Parts: sequence; C-alpha cells; structure tokens
Amino acid sequence: MRKPELRIGYGWDSHEFKPGIPLKIGGVTLPHDQGLGGHSDGDVLLHAITDALLGAIAGPDIGSLFPPSDPQWKNADSALFLLEALKRVKTAGYELVNLDSTLILSTPKIGPHADAIRKRVAELCGIPADCVGIKAKTPEGMGTDNAAIAHAAVLLKRAVRDGTDDSCDVLTVVESRSV
Ligand SMILES: [Zn+2]
Repeated sequence: MRKPELRIGYGWDSHEFKPGIPLKIGGVTLPHDQGLGGHSDGDVLLHAITDALLGAIAGPDIGSLFPPSDPQWKNADSALFLLEALKRVKTAGYELVNLDSTLILSTPKIGPHADAIRKRVAELCGIPADCVGIKAKTPEGMGTDNAAIAHAAVLLKRAVRDGTDDSCDVLTVVESRSV
C-alpha cells in the first residue's frame, strides 16, 4: 500500500525550573538564574519537537527511546534526541516540511531570543528558518509559573528517493494486472 503523502505530528512536554543549572531552550542557552530540571539538559522545546517527529511516523515516544533510568542520557544534549528522531523520519521515507511551536513560561521573556532559537532549531532540523514557528505565552491563570511547557506540531512529506517508493507502486501495478 502506498504511504500517505503527508503526515502530521504533535508533541508536548514540561519541565520544572531549578536553580543552579543552565537554561536551554531550542538548543540555545538563555541567560537566566534557573534552568529546567530533568535527566537530560531539560530542553523542553527540543523534547516536544522530538515527540512530534516520532508521533508523525507512529514511532515510539521519547521516553521509550531515551529512558530517564538509563545513565547514558544523564545531562545529555537533547539535540541527540532530535537527531535520532529525524533519522527515524528519514528511514520511514519522509522529510520534515515545517514545524510550529508554542512555549508557555512566565520568565524569561522568549521574544528577544526567538530568532536565535528559530535559527538553531532550523539548523538542527535541516529546514529553512522561515519554516520554524517559535511562539511564546505566559501561563495566565494556569498556576504553572515554576514550569516551562512546550507544544510542537510538525508536517512531514513523503520523500522522493531513488524510486524506493515507486518500486512499491510498480509491484502493485504488476499484481493488479495479473489478477
Ligand atoms: Zn522533557
């Protein structure tokens, strides 16, 4: 059966602010007196994007691939998780078209850093910066001032590669003719 031309993916993550650690969002270290706790570097945005990519190909989620119980992921650079998800997307026969995201946190203000984050995420994902949406809101009335939350959506399209996809279709045609 022919693979779908397009697939969407959605990811969500949250981490708690902790003093004394660097704040990393979207692969960029932001100036702040607290960072995001977690087993890895706590990069809430890269985690949400990673889960969106894995979800788009109906793959295992980030927690299954990189379990917090595994010591090798302690303080890991979350770019590694994202790159593994992108590798799986490619293996599944797809490529990333664009992504959109929303960060929800009370401080620091993301606006002044949005372009740097957009550029870094685009670089990691291998897509143009104008295909990366970075939006930020404060958690009005949510009572989550001590946390950073990220939502991400991705669009994948079927990759055109060496006739790999089409060989499937040729078989289908041959089979349908022989019936
Ligand atoms: Zn996370």
